[in-house]
Amino acid sequence: MKRIIAPKGTKDIFLPEIEKWQYIEEKIRGYFPRFLYKEIRTPIFEYSELFQRGIGTETEVVQKEMYTFKDKANRDLTLRPENTASVVRAAIENDLFNRVYPLRFFYIGPMFRYDKPQKGRFRQFHQFGVEVFGDESAQVDAEVIYSSYDFLKEINIKDIQLHLNSVGCENCRPKFLRDLEAEAEKKKNDLCIDCQRKIHTNPLRIFDCKNLKCIEISNDFPKIIDYLCEECGSHFEDVKSTLSIFKVKFDINSRLVRGLDYYTKTAFEISSNQLGAQDALLGGGRYNNLVKELGGADISGMGFAAGIERIILQLDDAKSKKGKMIFIAYQSLPLMNKAIQLAKSLWDKGYRAYVDYNSKNLKKQLKKANKIGIDYTFILGEDEIVTKSISIKNMKDYEQITIKQEELDKWLKNNI
Ligand SMILES: [Zn+2]
Ligand SMILES: [Zn+2]
Repeated sequence: MKRIIAPKGTKDIFLPEIEKWQYIEEKIRGYFPRFLYKEIRTPIFEYSELFQRGIGTETEVVQKEMYTFKDKANRDLTLRPENTASVVRAAIENDLFNRVYPLRFFYIGPMFRYDKPQKGRFRQFHQFGVEVFGDESAQVDAEVIYSSYDFLKEINIKDIQLHLNSVGCENCRPKFLRDLEAEAEKKKNDLCIDCQRKIHTNPLRIFDCKNLKCIEISNDFPKIIDYLCEECGSHFEDVKSTLSIFKVKFDINSRLVRGLDYYTKTAFEISSNQLGAQDALLGGGRYNNLVKELGGADISGMGFAAGIERIILQLDDAKSKKGKMIFIAYQSLPLMNKAIQLAKSLWDKGYRAYVDYNSKNLKKQLKKANKIGIDYTFILGEDEIVTKSISIKNMKDYEQITIKQEELDKWLKNNI
């Protein structure tokens, strides 16, 4: 029969990589509550309109990358391509703005984009991120950026760089966009077809184009940073000075406009050169109009989203806290029940232990322990039962010791 394989752009995750996933998920849940973030989980699919209105119809995401489908009742649905629009929708719908304080959420979960699969890039990919609502201060922008930066350091990602920009607001951006449009119009024939269309629909999105010619041309286009109004300018200065209190270094990147329409003022990305990769590990910024545009009150937002697959590529050493594995071997079949009793007492205390119920002799059991990658094998023989002791074999150097049963707890504490 023909084998069925996983759809293009998806993958199964299992040992040994799954340990990195568990490690990073544990770290996220342990780290972000420090800043009073609470977890939120939103549906994997939403009405398509949420993303069209939220992300912007001229973005690459909405134009080309959404998994949109009709359900049996002809509803227009989309697998979420990102989570910010969903979190905003959830906050409005459940009136969280009046029920939760401070309004700070973090999330972890799968997102879906019809993108070209490549290293670290999948059609079902996973993100974690945070959202802060109702705080317009530059200081909170710096705190959000700091937490994302510090988290990467916490999980031992090396050589990280923060790229910073301001994309202005509805007061200062129009003049910038007019000048940008005029400049782009002059170079129209050198731009790709997509960018030619964007000139009049959404010229900011020209900066997202990955076409090398377009990048070269747009490098000479006007820079938003030169157009910031007084408010955006002083906000940006405060973000930078607060980042220095957090001792976070950054560079200014005027091309950094993020791929989504909802950003205002602060925009940032963090990348790592550890593996020579150019891709951003995470990015985010301020979105002061999104809540209003999705039908809520005039409430500001600030957040980031991080690509878990990309971070895992850089994560060489997931230090799992699960502890070492113990194999409980019995010398002869009648002793198997003793092994089961011992295993139960270890499981009760939260240790990882394994009994092989199918091997008739000790040699075969030790072979299996090796195959599993066991750290210590406990051996129960007639002698051990009579003397109320346990023989313990270190499976790395094969050294063996015998301890009294009443010494076991102390041994476990020191060795596992
Ligand atoms: Zn402004
Ligand atoms: Zn282009």
